[in-house]
Amino acid sequence: MPFDVQRIRSDFPILSGRVHGKPLVYLDNAATTHKPQQVIDAIVGFYTHDNANVHRGMHELARRATDGYEAARGKVARFVGAPDHRSVVFTSGTTDAVNLVAYAYAEPRLKAGDRIVLTHMEHHSNIVPWQLVAERTGAEIVAAPITDAGELDLEALHALLDERVKIVAAAWVSNTLGTVNDVRRLASLAHGVGAVLLLDGAQALAHVPIDVREVGCDFLALSAHKALGPTGIGALYAKPELLGEMPPFKGGGEMIEQVTFPHTTYAAPPARFEAGTPNIAGAIGFGAALNYLSSVDREGLAAHERELTAYGTRLLGEVEGLRILGNSPTKAPVFSFTLDWAHPYDVAPILDHMGVAVRTGHHCTQPLMDRFGLPATVRASCALYTTREEIDALITALGKAREMLA
Ligand code: PLP
Repeated sequence: MPFDVQRIRSDFPILSGRVHGKPLVYLDNAATTHKPQQVIDAIVGFYTHDNANVHRGMHELARRATDGYEAARGKVARFVGAPDHRSVVFTSGTTDAVNLVAYAYAEPRLKAGDRIVLTHMEHHSNIVPWQLVAERTGAEIVAAPITDAGELDLEALHALLDERVKIVAAAWVSNTLGTVNDVRRLASLAHGVGAVLLLDGAQALAHVPIDVREVGCDFLALSAHKALGPTGIGALYAKPELLGEMPPFKGGGEMIEQVTFPHTTYAAPPARFEAGTPNIAGAIGFGAALNYLSSVDREGLAAHERELTAYGTRLLGEVEGLRILGNSPTKAPVFSFTLDWAHPYDVAPILDHMGVAVRTGHHCTQPLMDRFGLPATVRASCALYTTREEIDALITALGKAREMLA
């Protein structure tokens, strides 16, 4: 079916709600997206009809719960082009997935003098786990610079790569700038020096088509809630040969083969990395979100997002004293900006009062803010259900804020 934003909006019950008596204009999608009725129904349906623990029961509900959970794993694998559903580990989100790689893959391998290359646009989730592991191993963190337009400086990154670099970890799509990185090139650069590439796919899932085999990344970290799914669930894709070599990160039920007091042997992946009762309903909701995204005309969606980016950039560019951070020509519809007549924290409550939800702050990217010499920005971020009219409402609300603050 061709892309139709109004038809899509009708699937999201929250979008017809009001805040402060005004129609909701939700432009905080990079923080979390809303959920279509199909996802809500999948979660309610699980608890209403199928609820049981997975993998260890011999009764009908346990079988249904296990089937639903494992079917969701298959959906994630297919959605990202993974060769095998066993290369997908359910995690609580991107943060958890990056930590899993940092502790189970990187820590046993890294030694003093090794390097981890990050970029200046990383979310704290793709910085702090590496710092913790670097402190334990003596490895060093190096950050690749970005340009004034907010694009990764690939030549500078290339120059940082040598045999000391064991891991390159980078955002596919920046949550603050909207920049879409050239991940194929990143994979070939990392592999050129024998390093592995971890991609932070938190923002990519909703905005760009993903094919891990085509990109050639070694690890991909995902959060369902950034792409129409529930919170508290995400996934790590890892190349099967890497996952197979990784020791467990958390111990508990489900991840074992045989337990005795002197010695425990571990299950094969992905179970080895899913200790304890997993977020079963979350996984089922994640699968439903991917079904929903798969049903959307992706070319139509890409065109819609390009149009929103162009429209938003033009209208915001006409607001006096407004400066946009992140001007990559191929960026996702994320608008971070400052105003020379007000602090971001003074603007957001006025916008909120007019029903317009945006985010203010450092967006968990403090090194990026430092790079631009800013303490904070206002960020308006779009999803597939965002309309031009909502951008118009943002512009009107900014006009009102200016009247009050300038
Ligand atoms: N990476 C990026 C680029 C993000 O935008 C976010 C969330 O804002 C994260 C990582 C962390 O995701 P989560 O909090 O779902 O683990």
